[in-house]
Amino acid sequence: MIPAAFDYVRATSAEEAISLAGEHGDEAKFLAGGHSLLPLMKLRLAQPAVLVDIGRLADLSYIRDGGDHIAIGALTRHRDVETSDLLAEHVPLLAHAASHVGDPQVRHRGTIGGSIAHADPASDLPATTLALGATYVAHGPGGTREIAAADFYEGFLTSSLAADELLTEIRVPKMAGAGWGFQKFNRRAQDWAIVGVAAWRRNGDAGVALVNMGSTPVLASSVASALAGGASVADAAEQAAAEADPQADLNASVEYRVHLAKVLTRRALEAASS
Ligand SMILES: Cc1cc2nc3c(=O)[nH]c(=O)nc-3n(C[C@H](O)[C@H](O)[C@H](O)COP(=O)(O)OP(=O)(O)OC[C@H]3O[C@@H](n4cnc5c(N)ncnc54)[C@H](O)[C@@H]3O)c2cc1C
Repeated sequence: MIPAAFDYVRATSAEEAISLAGEHGDEAKFLAGGHSLLPLMKLRLAQPAVLVDIGRLADLSYIRDGGDHIAIGALTRHRDVETSDLLAEHVPLLAHAASHVGDPQVRHRGTIGGSIAHADPASDLPATTLALGATYVAHGPGGTREIAAADFYEGFLTSSLAADELLTEIRVPKMAGAGWGFQKFNRRAQDWAIVGVAAWRRNGDAGVALVNMGSTPVLASSVASALAGGASVADAAEQAAAEADPQADLNASVEYRVHLAKVLTRRALEAASS
């Protein structure tokens, strides 16, 4: 429960953070809210030699109207996402999903950028932003690039970010009247999802993504295709696990996860259709 020794540097700007990470390469890790990284370090599953603290970069904490999207700074805390009037109006699915992250203490500390960069398939916001078709903005020594959420998640806790790239902004399209549903199945309130589903629907269009149904957040494209082809919600939900590759763990067998994915997708789509 005691992490390996590490050096600690506090960055005063995004540029300084990128430069410090560049100096140390794979040996360095950004520290945002610390709610995912520090537990891994205490278990010695992560042993970075240098922590570059970005937690006080206040200019990366914002929620702004970007016209057709809402722009969220990577250092924005879950609590600010949960309580944002702008998100409540334009992307209520994301605000609601943020309210399901851990407990109030976790939500006051953890950041949306940290959750996405950590790329944990069991986290709520990676799958939710994937369902919404978000774009992530990353800054590195070579400049800025935009990454579609669908291209971002490469494997378990692995994203397409380079070690010296800083995730700076999450752009989420406005939902413009779409219905939505969010389902999170766990054994105790405030736990991680055993399986979760984020879904929206507008006329023939839909987006559905699954939490904890594989090594990455899973875009359930077959469900959206079935709905676009005129299938009922119940029939479309039967396709929920088509793109998934769930694993068994202490909480659920593979078969149970598949069952949950179908049931929760149906419930989320019923809410989105109502
Ligand atoms: C008790 C507990 C319960 C939780 N329950 C849930 C839950 O129910 N649902 C859920 O979704 N999450 C849950 N979490 C996780 C929580 O949401 C974390 O806050 C979040 O996953 C990580 O955000 P962070 O800011 O703490 O990131 P950190 O722990 O600081 O960083 C995580 C990783 O991302 C990297 N990183 C961070 N920010 C950036 C950036 N801007 N650019 C590039 N890389 C970056 C770090 O280097 C590190 O590798 C829980 C955590 C705890 C401790």
